[in-house]
Order: sequence, then C-alpha cells, then structure tokens
Amino acid sequence: MSNYQIETKCVQGGYTPGNGEPRQIPIIQSTTFKYATSEDMGKLFDLEASGYFYTRLQNPTNDSVAAKICDMEGGTAAMLTSSGQAANFFAIFNIASAGDHVVASSSIYGGTFNLFSVTMKRMGIDFTFVSPDADEAELNAAFRPNTKAMFGETIANPALTVLDIELFAKVAHAHGVPLIIDNTFATPVNCRPFEWGCDIVTHSTTKYMDGHGAAVGGCIVDSGKFDWTKYPEKFPGLCTPDESYHGVTYTERFGLEGAFITKATAQLMRDFGAIQAPQNAFLLNLGLESLHVRMAHHCENGLAVAKYLASDDRIAWVTYPGLEGDKYFERAKKYMPNGTCGVVSFGVKGGRKVAEQFMKHLKIAAIETHVADARSCCLHPASATHRQMNDDELRAAGVSPDLVRFSCGIESSEDLIADIKQALDACFQ
Ligand SMILES: *Cc1c(COP(=O)(O)O)cnc(C)c1O
Repeated sequence: MSNYQIETKCVQGGYTPGNGEPRQIPIIQSTTFKYATSEDMGKLFDLEASGYFYTRLQNPTNDSVAAKICDMEGGTAAMLTSSGQAANFFAIFNIASAGDHVVASSSIYGGTFNLFSVTMKRMGIDFTFVSPDADEAELNAAFRPNTKAMFGETIANPALTVLDIELFAKVAHAHGVPLIIDNTFATPVNCRPFEWGCDIVTHSTTKYMDGHGAAVGGCIVDSGKFDWTKYPEKFPGLCTPDESYHGVTYTERFGLEGAFITKATAQLMRDFGAIQAPQNAFLLNLGLESLHVRMAHHCENGLAVAKYLASDDRIAWVTYPGLEGDKYFERAKKYMPNGTCGVVSFGVKGGRKVAEQFMKHLKIAAIETHVADARSCCLHPASATHRQMNDDELRAAGVSPDLVRFSCGIESSEDLIADIKQALDACFQ
C-alpha cells in the first residue's frame, strides 16, 4: 500500500484478503492458538518463528489494524494497545527505566502529564518539561547525559499549541535520542510526523481514528529510522541480549525496522498485558475507513466555529491553529497544509462561572470528557481532565482556568454556530 495516497490507505491498508477470504477484517475472537507439536510452539516463544500463540501478546485482527495505521503513518512496524495512555507509557518505558530522564513538551494531554510527572516519576524516570515554543538553546539546556527520549504532541490537547517538529527532531537527534510524538489530534490524514524527522508516533485511537466514541484504544508506530546501534550504551535493551527472551538482541534479530515494536511486544505487552480487544480493533478499523472523509469535515466545522467565535464580542479569546492570526497559524500551515483538527479552545467573557453556564445551555454539543468524535462535545478541562493540576501547571500546559474545549463533530456548522449563539444569549440576557 505504501505508494498509495492516504485516502486509499485509510480504506484498504493493512489487510488484503486472498481468494475466497472475508472482505472485511475478521474478528479473531480467540485467546489462544493451536499447534501440532510443543516444538512448533517453542519456536514462537523463542521468537524464532512468527505466529500467534496467546492474544495477550498478539492477535491477527489487531495486527491487521496496526498494519493499516503503520501504513498511514509511513512507518515500518506498529502495535495496538488497550488505550492511548498505554501507548505513551509503552513508547517511553520501552527505552527508559529507573535512573533515566526524558524531555517533554509541557503542552500535552493532562493524562499524559500525570503519567509522566507522577506515575513514571515513581518508577524512577525523571521528566523535564519544556515550552513548545522554546528555542534551540533552551531545548538543548533541558538535556542530560541520561536523557533517553524527547516527547511532544503535534497539536496539544487541549491547549492547541502546534509543535515545531523539525526543531524538536533536530535537537533530539543532536543528543542521540528519538523524538516521540503523540499524533492523536492531527491524525496521519493531516500530519505525518515521520516526514519531518520524528522517530516514533503514538495515538489515542479513542479519538478521531475510532471517531464514533465506541472503543478506547491506542497505537505505537515506529519509523524504523532511529539507529539505536549508534548508541548501544544508551539503549542496552535494544542493543544487548534480552535474558528474559533467551538472549535475543532485538536490533540484530529484527533490524532497525522491527526492533522497537518487537521489544515492546515481547517484554511490555507480555508483562503488562495492555492489549486491545480484537472486537475493539475491528471497530477501530471501521473508523479508519472513513477517517479522511471525517477529518475534512471536522476541520471545516472547526474553522467555521472558530471564525464565528472570533467575531462575537462575548467571547474573550479563541485559539484554533487553522484560524488566520492564531499564534500557531503559520506553523500549522507548514506541518498541516490541509487542515488541523476540529477542536477549538476559547474563553467566554466572565470566566470560569460563565463558561460552565454556557456549556449547560448547549443543545447539540454535550458535556463529555471525550473529544474528537463525530458528535460535537465540550469540556471545561480545569474542572475535569486537568483538575489534578495547580494553577502554575495549568498555565505551563497552556490551559487557562476559563478554557472551554469545544470539539466540533461532523454535524452542520450552521447548526453548531446557532447552538453556540443561543447558549451565549442565555448567559448574557
Ligand atoms: C485522550 C488522549 C490520550 C489518552 O488516550 P486514552 O485512549 O484516553 O487512554 C493521549 N494523548 C492525547 C493527545 C489524547 O487526546
């Protein structure tokens, strides 16, 4: 599929049935797989033969869907995880352990910030958070000899800052570490970070990829471009024998194109078991088949709503990277010339209290923790997803206390704008 356009990959990537086989990806609803001899099975356990033996590690339905996302991102290997949280955890924990350090953009999803700054810190991994707008010198200053990765989000949820992918990649590579990017909001339809030097991409497939609020899931894709073997002392897990897998050295056995994902499957999926249910992978694939069609409409609605909000003097401020005049407009145009996403952030005059009142009056957009769905929804992050953060952390994450995250679905933009208008009227009568 790799020479086809993204639209064709969305519809047909990852699975090519043979003669007389099912047209749609089959759901292999089986925990286990049968073998004729113990020897056959032993080869699988030793990673000497490829095949399935237990769905906690791998399942054919998941692998077909992962192969599609891999193709869409232009990677060499991919795996599905049970959630976006698991994807980001695995992506980092695959190369960083106790005593190591990671540089991350401060403008990231609240759940990821919590994972990094609290839970992974408890595991002995230190994070330094940098502004997504930091210059090269500031980014360089955040690195330490024990830094193992750099992390950011293409379009941050919910601050809607746009990452300077080329600059982050340049700095990461200068320090001999990979750049990992969470590409959830842009999706590979609008941005393919590998084309700009990023090494590993993660997704919460729960959002646009599924797109219908049906299944929580995640994905990790490897570009196969980062040369771990240049820094064997930094990445011993990939470059020296894994005693828990009979001494296999991942970079030797699976090459640069397969080492990272094979290690994540063989060790992390084996030990943590955060596999996506095959049924969910099937639902995710249905979402992927229309992702390119939906993204275009999400972006169209996002821009229409952002333009309307910018013109209404009851709105204090609007952030939408696709809106001319936005702080990130030029950067978004470079990395996402066809559109950004459907999420618009804004503040209603009167602050936090009026924001909550406004949201209560909306009829189409429902108040939900969810985002990036076919149905419009909205959220007040300071009192929901980001409520563990103090005011300083909120500011660093680009989330002001009055921020309303409005996720434009694929309804009519005319109806969405009329709904916003009537809710504002109800607040300001
Ligand atoms: C939602 C989200 C996550 C977490 O994903 P889950 O599927 O909810 O675990 C990670 N990153 C971003 C950008 C998200 O929007």
